[in-house]
Amino acid sequence: MEKATIEKFKNLFLEILTEEQVFEGKLSPTTLEGDEVDVVSHEKANQMDFRLKARNAIYLNKVRKSLHKIEEGSFGECEDCGAEISLQRLNARPTADLCINCKEAQEKHENQLINRNRASSKVGRVLPIETLEKGFNRDQTATSDFHVDHMDYQDIVG
Ligand SMILES: [Zn+2]
Repeated sequence: MEKATIEKFKNLFLEILTEEQVFEGKLSPTTLEGDEVDVVSHEKANQMDFRLKARNAIYLNKVRKSLHKIEEGSFGECEDCGAEISLQRLNARPTADLCINCKEAQEKHENQLINRNRASSKVGRVLPIETLEKGFNRDQTATSDFHVDHMDYQDIVG
């Protein structure tokens, strides 16, 4: 990979990490280059994208890992087969650590595992937690309604 291309990715990763530190209040915006107005408008422009990414610890770890790889000189190499990850793929996914072939093989394998687990489960469909909670709340309401009705009845009778 060309040095300029590696620099581009390095700057991108550093920018993401710096934005995260500003967001977490570890750095004040004034410690960044440029005046405050620039930083603020820059932040606003990136806010959506930035929030999604910066709040994602897994993503940040990947960014740190990628930066480490740049230092080591192994950035852009597939972790699995050692082949060069295409620039097209890296542009779309700068933190990619597998080449497209190995990534596809991995996904295929993961899907197979999921399908195998589904097939071996004879208990039937597991209800999503949300449905369970709804059911639980409904039961609680039903119970308290009963108590209220019962008390009203007692009041009337008594
Ligand atoms: Zn590979």
